[in-house]
Amino acid sequence: MVKETRFYDVLGVKPQATTEEIKKAYKKLALKYHPDKNPDEGHKFKEIVSAYEVLSDPEKRKTYDRFGEQAIKEGGSNGGGFGAPHDMFDMFFRGAGFFGGGGGSRSEHARQANNVVHQLAVTLEELYKGSTRKLALQKNVVCTKCDGKGGKKVETCPNCKGVGVQIQVQQLGPNIVQHVQSACGECRGQGERISPKDRCKHCNGKKTVPERKIIEVHIDKGMQDSQKITFSGEGDQDPGVEPGDMIIVLDEKEHEVFKRSGNNLIMRMHLELVEALCGFQKVIKTLDDRDLVITSLPGEVIKSGDVKFVQNEGMPQYKNPFEKGRLIIQFLVNFPTSIDPAIIPQLELCLPPREEIMIPDTAEEVMLVDMDPNQQRRESRKQYSDFDENCGNRVQCAPH
Ligand SMILES: [Zn+2]
Ligand SMILES: [Zn+2]
Repeated sequence: MVKETRFYDVLGVKPQATTEEIKKAYKKLALKYHPDKNPDEGHKFKEIVSAYEVLSDPEKRKTYDRFGEQAIKEGGSNGGGFGAPHDMFDMFFRGAGFFGGGGGSRSEHARQANNVVHQLAVTLEELYKGSTRKLALQKNVVCTKCDGKGGKKVETCPNCKGVGVQIQVQQLGPNIVQHVQSACGECRGQGERISPKDRCKHCNGKKTVPERKIIEVHIDKGMQDSQKITFSGEGDQDPGVEPGDMIIVLDEKEHEVFKRSGNNLIMRMHLELVEALCGFQKVIKTLDDRDLVITSLPGEVIKSGDVKFVQNEGMPQYKNPFEKGRLIIQFLVNFPTSIDPAIIPQLELCLPPREEIMIPDTAEEVMLVDMDPNQQRRESRKQYSDFDENCGNRVQCAPH
């Protein structure tokens, strides 16, 4: 039994439908719901394309049958797989599919080989200044020795008759049979077979060979974490289908001073109490190695937690790098742990006067104790678990 049937339902076929039946159902529905004819049914059309994308691929169909739609989605998270339905969808609009006037015969090729996805770690400095990085990546290219045929004599696989899948019928009980579909073991889902002696020596019959490729990635000023840089058609090749794309995904490294928030940069600055009260000058090294001087004039007071910013010293805007965000500075003031009592009278002369307070005669004198937040948390947890384990009854637990 299959786990879910939604994709089969979308195409209006039974879970045991053959690849041919699925293809026929898909063509009929795709023509009917194509946005050119049915502009309001775009969602339905996408669903049809997604369902077909999975069910037409023996490996994906097998996964879907066993584990459902979620597994298909998760299987694509490595970047290679499930981005495909949308790519495919786009392709229909570009006219590469069988709607594009080329006639029905091209529908077989309305597919794309795998994208090659690579994550590239970049520093905040590189994203600020822009940079060029050279990367050596590996991708599959069509074997030139055999022209992507895999060998001299290619025959249709006799086991699966070229479909690439095999269906086994298992008797589960009286009148209950289960159809189990899997990629053909003979040809590993290829639908064709090359006898070992005819196999291309260069690609070993695989039709493609891995190739190392050096690419130059231009990181523009202001690019963001997770931003994709796409090299169209530079991904894996497969004979007879469009090559995939090479996709570089930027991974912004953490910076020790600045934290990025959109186009703003945020930093923390520690001040001594004397600086906070009496003014200061500080130097900030920018991401492009300039020195900025900030000044707090005598007479201004900065409190711990105060936030100020410098206009136009944040990250450059992508595609408009002369516009920059803000450099936001949060100040944290270091207080001395104690002060020599002898100097307090002088200090008091400098500071705003105390407020006078009245102490009632009946007031009780109590001790002020330093609080350790961790200690406090441990204690409250302990009380709670005592209550749980030992009594379970609030009345018995009430303090004595
Ligand atoms: Zn086969
Ligand atoms: Zn070859």
